[in-house]
Amino acid sequence: MRVPWRRKPAGLSVPTASATEVESGTSSTPTPLSEETGVIHLQGVECRYLGSDTPAISDFNLLVRPGEFVSILGRSGAGKTTALRVIAGFEQVSDGYIRIGGKLVGTSFVHVPPDQRRIGLVFQDYALFPHLTVAKNIEFGLKDLPADERRVRIAPVLKMVGMSGYESRYVHELSGGQQQRVAIARALAPDPVALLLDEPFSNLDRQLRAALRRDIKKIVHETGATTLLVTHDREEALATSDRIAVMGDNCIEQIGTPEDVYQNPISAAVARLIGPCELIPGVYRGEVVVTEAGVFPVRVTTENSILDGRQVLALMRASELEIELAGEDDQRTAMVEAREFEGEFSEYSIRLDSGTLLRVRRRAANGIELGSRVTVCARDGSKVIVFPA
Ligand code: ADP
Repeated sequence: MRVPWRRKPAGLSVPTASATEVESGTSSTPTPLSEETGVIHLQGVECRYLGSDTPAISDFNLLVRPGEFVSILGRSGAGKTTALRVIAGFEQVSDGYIRIGGKLVGTSFVHVPPDQRRIGLVFQDYALFPHLTVAKNIEFGLKDLPADERRVRIAPVLKMVGMSGYESRYVHELSGGQQQRVAIARALAPDPVALLLDEPFSNLDRQLRAALRRDIKKIVHETGATTLLVTHDREEALATSDRIAVMGDNCIEQIGTPEDVYQNPISAAVARLIGPCELIPGVYRGEVVVTEAGVFPVRVTTENSILDGRQVLALMRASELEIELAGEDDQRTAMVEAREFEGEFSEYSIRLDSGTLLRVRRRAANGIELGSRVTVCARDGSKVIVFPA
């Protein structure tokens, strides 16, 4: 379902303006909004906070295409919120440029204010007015419209987020999950060019988070809204996104589909962010890596074409490893320190003699006793990725 008052579905023409047009306030001619121009486009963007020596984001490049759901994933302090704030117009750009809906909205000399960017925002703390009803909260974002048109928009957006019939409820009478649905309805009501979600689930408990993120994905898909989500939660990013942009310090290190980034992380830092893993030292020997835990076949990617004999870090993931009881002649062995039963599988914690802990998933039916000595190998068909140490 698309919002009934939408004039221009994503992918069609929207007004655009060159830097001089924005500066001089002259009218702009519509140009097609395409895969190439994107809905949100940041190129070489830098943002510095006053009094700070280093930029919070720098050389930040991102293109979000019409109707896409993109997540920015990064550790705390990486610059995720800053990226969202420059897109929304709350912070000024010191270098590079930002286009939204094909229109130039931010450079070091152009700054279109937030209320003229047609962006819908949803924050983790909902930012709803507790003393207003649900309907009044939604109307608040539509102040520029005549009263009768405002009222017409309320019921459809509440229906979209599964909150029909809640118009007269006060915000404080709603659960956290319901409040977040209303916040999304409020953001969608003005028919924004794009939705920006800043850690929208982080105040909710685990079960509710999973349910709400499934719902949001559905809502966003049905409305065709182009969406950018900021999160430090990889599960959230992996579960919701068409593409994930993984941030290092200040800029995007890798962007791709969840499957691609998970299977082909370009650096140890990206691998750590995108999934639970250990990185253990080893030596690259042709098609294998020799480590303390054993000798593993290596999957060579374009990013890790590494010279023979080079010191590397080998990426160890629980689902890609296997353990067997060690025989007397086995050289590289480890001890089973803990086992967590997870239904069909158990997750084993394996202590290497150096003290490093690896995790290995194994069918629960084939249990191995705690304290046993085991050998570790790659699960059938699995190969490990290595990064330069
Ligand atoms: P994230 O959202 O990934 O946790 P932020 O964008 O909030 O990261 O912060 C990026 C960097 O900018 C951090 O080093 C942070 O300390 C700094 N920073 C954030 N907000 C401000 C501010 N208002 N003034 C000065 N520095 C800030």
